[in-house]
Amino acid sequence: MAEASGYHDVVARIARAAQACGRDPAAVTLVAVSKQQPWEHIAPVLAAGQAVFGENRVQDAMARWAGEADGLTLHLIGPLQSNKAKDAVGFFDVIETLDREKLAGVLAEEVQRQGRLPRLYVQVNTGEEPQKAGVIPAQADAFIGACRGNYGLNPEGLMCIPPVGEPAGPHFALMGKIAERNGLSKLSMGMSDDFETAIRFGATSVRVGSAIFGARTSA
Ligand SMILES: *Cc1c(COP(=O)(O)O)cnc(C)c1O
Repeated sequence: MAEASGYHDVVARIARAAQACGRDPAAVTLVAVSKQQPWEHIAPVLAAGQAVFGENRVQDAMARWAGEADGLTLHLIGPLQSNKAKDAVGFFDVIETLDREKLAGVLAEEVQRQGRLPRLYVQVNTGEEPQKAGVIPAQADAFIGACRGNYGLNPEGLMCIPPVGEPAGPHFALMGKIAERNGLSKLSMGMSDDFETAIRFGATSVRVGSAIFGARTSA
């Protein structure tokens, strides 16, 4: 990975996938998912100019990026516990895992207190999997409405992680419908195995880890 070859390959594949469906490659943001990667895999990707990174744990992300975050855009893509909301609001530029009213309430309080407003995505559990975070599709409209009306939060988009072992396309298509009827313009969807499909279905950001950095060192 010393030459960031995985990174350059993913960037090229994003461009090709966008062009293949008549989209501007610049309309797709690559979030490089650096969770559980050793620094020697990350450094060459940083050096190659990548400035948007995703992490799934608040504390790990702060430990890794605290002194390095200048000029970077950091996304929280893992579940957020209410008791970490303060740190998350203070540290992340984008929180992609807003999925329940209690969290919306705590985030809104922290936004007020800190005067810092991360961009927000509502996570949708498109496969309705019990072990997975996110609002179920049938509750998405009401939840987005509650974020806006009850908490003064304006999510900019939706995020999903489709079930493993199912075709992702129908899940991505459902995301597009929920976004459209709620007036949301951003879709965070697509990972190493399916980001090209996600781009076809309108992803505005893709979250890619192992295809860039190699297999993660721990689970
Ligand atoms: C780990 C993770 C990714 C990246 O997964 P890869 O398969 O390594 O690309 C993307 N999104 C979320 C929410 C993740 O937790």
